[in-house]
Amino acid sequence: MIVDGAILDVDGPRPAYVRFSRGRIVEVGQRGTDSTRGRLRRVRGIVVPAPVNGHTHLGDAVSRIEPPSAPVARLVQAPAGYKFRLLAETPRAAKEAAMRRALDRMRRGGVARTIDFREEGRPGVEMLRRAARGTGVEPVILGRPLARPIDRRELDRLLDVADGVGLSSARDETAETLRTVARSCRARGKRFSLHASEAVREPTESYLEPAPDLLVHLARATDDDLAAVRRAGVAVAVCPRSNALFGRQPDLRAMERLGLSVLLGTDNAMFQAPSIWRELEFAYVGSRLRHRPVSAAFVARSALVEPWRWLGLPDAARVAPGTAVQPLIVRLPADDPAYQLVTRTTEHLIARPGPRDGGGGR
Ligand SMILES: [Zn+2]
Repeated sequence: MIVDGAILDVDGPRPAYVRFSRGRIVEVGQRGTDSTRGRLRRVRGIVVPAPVNGHTHLGDAVSRIEPPSAPVARLVQAPAGYKFRLLAETPRAAKEAAMRRALDRMRRGGVARTIDFREEGRPGVEMLRRAARGTGVEPVILGRPLARPIDRRELDRLLDVADGVGLSSARDETAETLRTVARSCRARGKRFSLHASEAVREPTESYLEPAPDLLVHLARATDDDLAAVRRAGVAVAVCPRSNALFGRQPDLRAMERLGLSVLLGTDNAMFQAPSIWRELEFAYVGSRLRHRPVSAAFVARSALVEPWRWLGLPDAARVAPGTAVQPLIVRLPADDPAYQLVTRTTEHLIARPGPRDGGGGR
């Protein structure tokens, strides 16, 4: 099978053809120059690295009705917030089933990984691991210890099964908790992350010391705050649809201008479907609402490139023979790949090269 059109990956957009055999890339070349003309099935489209959802709370998928109208903190704060009451009263099997449905939907959208903040301590992490089995989406699970002050034994047992810790915001935790969690994550080679400046601005010292691996939101961060995050070399996950529900937006234009490493995430599964493509479109359009327009290329990178770098898998962000993660084919015109991809992709336009593609001379 040959995809004739364009590639959009870590090296940017370019006209190209990509030949697949048994689901793997075997050749990449200049558009219109492949020597197999006529012998293989040809499709037009754009080939991209599989996207990563940079921030989810998939446990929230148990919610089936419109969440109550309340400030976000009241909805998602432990232990009495709406979501925690919902999680507490939902049986484990139902939670796993809801998370599995969300992961199945993500897979249909071509998502290969999701970076999830999983509540409910070690059992919460284990639930998501079980739910993800066989879905084709690999969760990177940042769990949350339950005891305060931190119980070192509990934290150790959490880190045995989690990929790191994802905390609420700095203002919800003591400095001692942040230090203890960060130190343990470092010692175990795991990731330390937290929400920051979502509903209100928090001072950068409160979330950059100790330095996390990932900050989520920064919707209320000032230009100076963002510059400090850039200097600290910390990546940021942004969730424009989730923020919009509560009347705010991250300043993506400033983040682009400052050169921040930005990941795009769909946030709480009780607010929106975990569709990375809807998030891409909204990020692009929503930036216009603030008159702070962001480029389509920047938005595309936030799902296709930056998360792979953050995960330490930069090769997965390149469309080339030998890549470990299977890329996607999006059946869209190839003239302006980033713009097409960001504003027009829907699940039914996504194709994956199958195991029989190309191998038999078709
Ligand atoms: Zn979050």
